[in-house]
Formats: sequence, structure tokens, C-alpha cells
Amino acid sequence: MYMFSKSLEERCNRILRDMEGSLTARDRVGIQDFVLLDAYTSESAVLDNLRKRFNENLIYTYIGTLLVSVNPYKELGIYTKKQMDIYMGVNFFELPPHIYALADNVYRTMLTETNNHFILISGESGAGKTEASKKILQFYAVSCPSTKLLDNVRDRLLLSNPVLEAFGNAKTLKNDNSSRFGKYMDIQFDHMGGAVGGHILSYLLEKSRVVHQNHGERSFHIFYQLVEGGEEDLLRWLGLERNCQRYSYLVQVGEGECAKVSSVNDKSDWKTVRKALSVIEFSESNIESLFAIIASVLHLGNATFVADSQGYATLNNSPEIHWLSKLLGIPAQVIQVGLTHRKIEARSEEVLSPFTVDQAVYAKDALAKAIYGRTFTWLVNELNESLANKDSSRKTVIGLLDIYGFEVFSVNSFEQFCINYCNEKLQQLFIQLTLKSEQEEYEMEGIEWESVPYFNNKIICDLVEEKFKGIISVLDEECLRPGEATDMTFLEKLEEKMGGHPHFVTHKLADQKTRKTLERGDFRLLHYAGEVTYCVVGFLDKNNDLLYRNIKEVMRQSKNAIVKHCFPSTEPDSKKRPETVATQFKSSLVGLTEILMSKEPWYVRCMKPNEGKQPGLFDDVLVRHQVKYLGLMEHLRVRRAGFAYRRRYEIFLQRYKPLCPDTWPNWKGTAAEGVECLIKHLGYKPDEYKMGRTKIFIRHPRTLFATEDAFEVC
Ligand code: ADP
Ligand code: MG
Repeated sequence: MYMFSKSLEERCNRILRDMEGSLTARDRVGIQDFVLLDAYTSESAVLDNLRKRFNENLIYTYIGTLLVSVNPYKELGIYTKKQMDIYMGVNFFELPPHIYALADNVYRTMLTETNNHFILISGESGAGKTEASKKILQFYAVSCPSTKLLDNVRDRLLLSNPVLEAFGNAKTLKNDNSSRFGKYMDIQFDHMGGAVGGHILSYLLEKSRVVHQNHGERSFHIFYQLVEGGEEDLLRWLGLERNCQRYSYLVQVGEGECAKVSSVNDKSDWKTVRKALSVIEFSESNIESLFAIIASVLHLGNATFVADSQGYATLNNSPEIHWLSKLLGIPAQVIQVGLTHRKIEARSEEVLSPFTVDQAVYAKDALAKAIYGRTFTWLVNELNESLANKDSSRKTVIGLLDIYGFEVFSVNSFEQFCINYCNEKLQQLFIQLTLKSEQEEYEMEGIEWESVPYFNNKIICDLVEEKFKGIISVLDEECLRPGEATDMTFLEKLEEKMGGHPHFVTHKLADQKTRKTLERGDFRLLHYAGEVTYCVVGFLDKNNDLLYRNIKEVMRQSKNAIVKHCFPSTEPDSKKRPETVATQFKSSLVGLTEILMSKEPWYVRCMKPNEGKQPGLFDDVLVRHQVKYLGLMEHLRVRRAGFAYRRRYEIFLQRYKPLCPDTWPNWKGTAAEGVECLIKHLGYKPDEYKMGRTKIFIRHPRTLFATEDAFEVC
């Protein structure tokens, strides 16, 4: 069993010291839990406190058990083994706020209550979500019991990260290591607290990045890692040159150069990934196949087409086809035909219809995206295979949700639409699980309560996802009219149907609603986190995500084991319409919500101190905006007015009854009466707790810690 590591006396002294902490020190470093301070209910006061702490390199602050984190953009030396030891097994509020304190608290709650938990890490792109999730995982890796078998699982859990990041992260304008997929990871623990397995769910990888990146951005890290770091003979075998500029999928349109990124070292990252793949026990042949695919995508990108005398596309350069043929194990001729034709049905006969050059380029890009996207899915499955716990005994889990943050670029497309919709859903979950349910619970339990108003973003979720009416439905409808519908007809329909919605702005109404004009071809959504203007170009295409049937048939012939697996012959016939990308994403988010709703929530709210990725710079306007939309003020108000801890009478009595001679070993009356008797004996003061219909509510964790301590001693 997990034991408290500090002596009771030492800890009590520390609490007293903290409580009496000198005013000057407080003035300088601020307050570590917003809930504790009387004056700290205004936005400016919250901002002041965050700024003070940030300037002292104190990036963490609590609101009750919620952890607020401000990205320092520099190494602080607070993630050492020594720090981990300090936080291990110590009550949450006894030490300065830290991500380790939260991780430890979740872990211990899971062990004592044998239930499932999740940690939702949110914040906009670049705010520090992925780093936070890695720190939590590292903490568990070090703090959990260790055996040879468990260490093996631990290594795999840890090493799944660099692999996933190589294939799923990229440099964007907001973040040099931006996650371009959503990730939910369950860590499974046995009843002794050993990490025995894991499972990863991935959400909507931004595949379009494989063929195109915005100015100053890059494709997925793995391409650069392979080209920069790959061993000589590997590159020779793959037909690659050690020069990223040679590959048109990596070169920015109109610039002839790859985007630079100084904070990433592709060469050393390559070594890490290569090693990780071996430890995770990918077979050498799978690793070969994997890199053959990455190289194939680069070769495919360099294939160019020219028009023949009739205007049809022919392939211009054979070296690319030669390498594709070799690496994918498909005859060159078959690839050539596949890339320049599509199969159509004419009078119940299948014939090959040649592409124009534009069509061929489109089909080529679609293939590159499909190969990469499916390989990513394969990779996640393999990782899961390797993390799977074969033992069927009861396990509890801690889920880590690190999903792409709210994004606003100068041009926002379908990808940002999906990402921002996902953030709306998570905000809705937060509201449901904290603001709403908390207040409803007080009401239900008959506890006097003055309700705290908050903005409920359900109206925006509905605008996007409502059946038959929402933006996704309209988009899907348009996708069902090939040949007739265009991005512009989609926009017209939106304007017609959503024009009157308070969170939707068409270019006609732009001036009245947001006082900013809007280009024809754009629509604007007033998200809970701010307004975003979306350009409709590409929406239909990206939502359809079509891959011609004959090119799938070509891929099916591949001798590359992964490609063969990714294009199975059992794939549903494309004559039947597959679900659109947005609809699939919507269903996967519904699934995710269900997973999360069945677990106990914990929150890390990450914030960006400035837009320039700079250390030491605290931009008041930017942080204030995040404080607002992350719902911190509302959360603080609910927390301050409320009760940090609540438990059903039966459970509370069961746990603490040894502390009182009247309730031990068996209490004869009702559980509520038993609890009443118990807390009288413990000396709870009247304003420290309230008795609800079925539960006891305790205002401050301190009260409970004292009880826990008494329990430990007895
Ligand atoms: P997000 O996942 O929210 O988009 P990341 O977690 O990738 O953002 O963080 C972006 C960058 O910010 C990191 O690559 C790192 O340089 C820096 N960063 C984030 N959190 C921390 C931290 N706790 N300490 C130091 N640097 C950090
Ligand atoms: Mg991230």
C-alpha cells in the first residue's frame, strides 16, 4: 500500500508555517490557491496573482483541485527525481502547487476508492498540454511500484510518446511541436498500484499536412527525422537523399525551401524514435516496412504529370515510380496506370477513364494522405498491442486526455473547424461535470446555495452538430451532391439556414454582429473561446476524403506488409457511401464523452503567457482572455462558495468509523446519524461542513486531511 512519506509532526508544522506565511512573501509570490483568498474573486485579482507567480517562476496555481499552469517557455528544473520524491504521497495542499501533486492525488484517490479517473488537460495550442501529460506519465513511471515485468510496461508507456509525436506532431506557427491528432491514453493499474498496461485512442489526424503546409509550418516530424537522421545505408535502400529540400511535399509552395525550426533536433530525435521502436518490440521487418512507407510518400510527392497530346495525364519521371514500385512491392506499370486513371462503370462494364493533369495531382495527393493516415492508425494499434495487459484481473485506470487546443490562424479551414468543435465539446463536458452538476447536486441534497451564472456553450455545440440542422449536417448534405455542390453552395446553404443564429456570422451580417467585415467565401463562428473566421475552400473535399476505388485496388496488391494491412480486401465497397470525416469525428467525440463521463474528472488548465513563445513575458490581455474563456472565474466562484469534498454517508462512515468509540465496530442507526456522531467526536466546527440528504459536504480539504491523519495514526 502507498504510504505517506512524511511524519505527521513535520507536516503539521509546515501547514502552520504556510498559513502564517509572511505578508511580504505573499505579496511577492502570490497565493497558491485562489480559493483561499477573500479578495481573489475579481478577474484582475486573479490575473495579478498569476502574473506575480509567473514572474517568480511559479507557473502552477490551484483553484481547489483544479491546476492552472502558465507555460514558462524555459526549463525550470522542477521536474527532477528529487521533486518527484517530494511530492510522492504528500497531501495535495501541503506543498506548493505542482503537476506532480495533482498526479499523486489522482493516483492515491484511485487506490483508496478503487475507481476510475481521468485528467482533462486543456488550453490553446502551445499552452503546454502535451508537456503536462508527459510529466504526469513520467511521474507515474517513477513513483509506481517497480518489478521487472512492470518496468517493461513502464518503458513502453513512456516510449510510445516519442513515436506518436514523430508521426503525429509538426511545427505550426503556434507551437514547434504541435500535436496534430487528439490523444486519450488510459494507464491501467493493478490493485497494488503497479502500472500494468495502457491503451491509446487517437482522434482525427490532420492528414492534409502531408501534402501541404501553411507558410512557416512543417509536415510531420518523422519525414525530417528520417531524411536528416537516417543511416546512410537505410537512405540508400529507400532511395532518399539527405536533403529535405529535394522533396516537394516538404518544400513550401512558392518558396523552394523547407520551413526552419531551431528548437527541434531531427537527428537526435531520429535516434530516440528508432530506439523506442525496438524497445516497444516492433519487428525489424515492420520497422523496415514503416520507413519504406514514409519514403514512398516522399517519392510520391515528387511524381509529376504532363499532358499527352489529348490532354490526359502521363507520368513524367520514372525514378519516382521505380522507387515506389520497389518500396511498396507493386509493379511499376500498375502504379502508373493507377495514378493516371480511375475506374468508372459504363453500361455495367468497368472501364478505365484517363485523368487530366489536375485530376491526377489530386488523386496522387489523396493517395499520399490515405497511406499516411492509415499507417498512423496502424501504428496506434501496434502500440496498443504492445501496451495491452493480458491479465484479466480487475484494474483501475487513469485516463490522460491531451487533445489539440483551440486554434485561430489567419486562414482557418476544415481542420480548425473540427479542432475548435472538439474544444467546444470538451468545454461542454467541463460545464456538465463541474459547474452544472456541482450546483445541481447542492440543490438535490437540499443544501442552501446561491447559484453562480456561467455561459453554457451548448448552443454552439448544437449549431455545429445538431441532427438535420447543424453545420455538419449541411456539409454532409452538400457532399451528397457530387458534381452540383461546391464549397460556395455549402456556404450559401449555411447562410440561409444559420443566418439568424447568434453565434454564426455570414458576410452579409458581419458588420452588425461583430462589426468586422468578412470576405465572400468565409463564415465566422463566435466560439466560447473567441471568434474564428473559416474559409470554406476545401471543406467539401476534406469532408468527403475520397480515394478512388482502383487506387485502393492497386494498394491492395502491395507486398509491403503494413500497406497490405491498411488496404484490406475486406474493405467495404466504395459504391456504398462511407461516413464523412466530420460525421466520423462527431461520433468519435460522442464515444469519448461517454468514456469520460463514467470516470471521476480532474483538470489541468494550460495557458500561454504570450504569442511569441518567449520566456519571461506575461501578456496581460492574452492571459486575461484565457482566464475568461477557460471558465476559471466561474469555477473559482463555485469552488469558493462550495464544498471541496463530499461523500455518501455510508462510505464516509465505513472509512472513518474506527476513529470514534461509538461508531466502532458497528453503528446501529442510520449512516447519516453515524456520520453526525463521528464528526461530533472529531470536533468539526459547524461552518466546516453541511449534512445533505445522502452525503456529507466538507468545505475545506484541511478538515479532511486532519481526519485522514488521525486515521493514519490510529
Ligand atoms: P500544447 O500541447 O498545448 O500545444 P506543448 O505542450 O507542446 O503545447 O508546449 C509547447 C512548448 O512549450 C513545448 O515544446 C515547450 O517548449 C514549452 N513548454 C510547455 N510546457 C512547459 C513546461 N512546463 N516547462 C517548460 N517548457 C514548457
Ligand atoms: Mg500538444
